[in-house]
Amino acid sequence: MDLEQRYLFQNYARLPLVLQRGKGCYVYDTSGKRYLDLIAGIGVTALGYAHPRLTKVIREQAGKLIHSSNLYYNEYQGPLAERIAKVTGLDRVFFCNSGTEAMEGALKIIRAHGRKISPTKFETVALHDSFHGRTFGALSITGQEKYRRDFEPMLPGARFVHRNNIGELEQVVGENTAGIVIELIQGEGGIHPLSDEYIRAARELADRHNALLVFDEIQCGVGRPGTYFSYQMLDPLVMPDITTAAKPLACGIPLGFVAATERAASAIGKGQHGTTFGGGALACRVALEFFDILEELLPNIIHVGGYFRMHLMDMAKKFSFIREVRGYGLMIGVELDFAGKQIVLDAMEQGLLINCTHDKVLRALPPYILTEQDVDRAVTVLKRVFKKAKPPEA
Ligand code: PLP
Repeated sequence: MDLEQRYLFQNYARLPLVLQRGKGCYVYDTSGKRYLDLIAGIGVTALGYAHPRLTKVIREQAGKLIHSSNLYYNEYQGPLAERIAKVTGLDRVFFCNSGTEAMEGALKIIRAHGRKISPTKFETVALHDSFHGRTFGALSITGQEKYRRDFEPMLPGARFVHRNNIGELEQVVGENTAGIVIELIQGEGGIHPLSDEYIRAARELADRHNALLVFDEIQCGVGRPGTYFSYQMLDPLVMPDITTAAKPLACGIPLGFVAATERAASAIGKGQHGTTFGGGALACRVALEFFDILEELLPNIIHVGGYFRMHLMDMAKKFSFIREVRGYGLMIGVELDFAGKQIVLDAMEQGLLINCTHDKVLRALPPYILTEQDVDRAVTVLKRVFKKAKPPEA
C-alpha cells in the first residue's frame, strides 16, 4: 500500500484491503482473513476463484501459446466467434481486450455506417446515467458529468436522453442519428432496468431512421441476468444491430467483443480497425471453457438471484431507509436513502465485499456459482450492518 501511494497515479480511491488468493466465491487477504465476494472484480470473476476447469485450461494453454497477434490465425478465435454468433443471434464478431475497447469498436461502426449514407449522419444518441467507458469515444457517450467534466471537449455528435422517456427519444432521434446506444440494465448508473416498451421504441426508431441499435451488455450481459444477454429476457425478442461484451468473458483474462449483424459489420473493411492483443489464444480458449460452464449455470443464476432479491425485499420492509431493490439474476442494486460508503466499509470489516455505485446504490455482481448458503451468509452480515446504520423501524 505504501509503494502504491508513492508510485502509482492517484486515480483510484481504493479500500484498505490487499487480496492474496481466492477459492470459489471467497477471497483471502494477506492476513488470511476470508471475505465472501459479492462484487467479483466488478462482475468479472463469474466462476469465482481458482475454478478447477479454468485453472486446467489456463495452465495447459500457457505452456502452448498465449499470444500470436492478428497477423495469423489461432485455434480458438474462430470457434469462439462461432459460439458467440450462436448465443447472440448475430453474424460476426470482433475481439478486443476490454469493455471500453468494445464500445470504441461499436462507435467506429456507427460512424462508418452513417458516413456511407450522409456526411451529416454521425450522431449517437445515448442515455443520461449511462456508463460506456473512459476513452474519448466511450466517454463521449457516457451520460455522467463527473466522468467527463475535466476532459471536455468530447467527440462531437453525442446526444443524451432520459431513460424510459419514449417521447424524448422520438424527438431526438432523427435523420442525422447514426446510432442509438443503451445498456438494458444501467450498471454504474445505479442498476436501472429499461422498460420493454422503451427498448422496443429504440428498435423502431433506429429502423425508421436507418440508425444502428447498440446494446452495451458489458455489465448486464454474458449470463448475468440469467439469460445469455439481457435482450433475451424480452418476449418477443428485440434484436440489436450490435452488442458489446467484456467483463466475465474470460473470467479475468482481458477479453471483450463486438458482435454485429452482417450489415453492421460490413461498415468496417480490411485495415480499418484492429488490435495487437485482442482474441489471443489463451483468452479465447478460456472463454470457450467459460461458455461451456455458463450453459449449466444459467438456472442457478435465476434461482439464487431470485432467492437473494427475495431476502433483500424482506429487509426493505424492515429497514425504512431501503428505497428500492432492483435488478435481474445476479445483477442486484439496493437503493438507500443515504450514501452507501460506510455500509461497504462495515460489511468489509465483517467479511463481506459489496460495492456502492451512483453514491446510494449498493451493488452486487457476484460469481454465478453463488449458493443459497452464501446468500444466507451475506444477508446475516447485511442485517447486522444495517442495524448499526440506522435502527429498524419495526
Ligand atoms: N460499459 C459498461 C456498461 C460498463 O459497466 C463498463 C465498465 O464498468 C464499461 C462499458 C467499460 O468496460 P471496461 O472497464 O472493461 O473498459
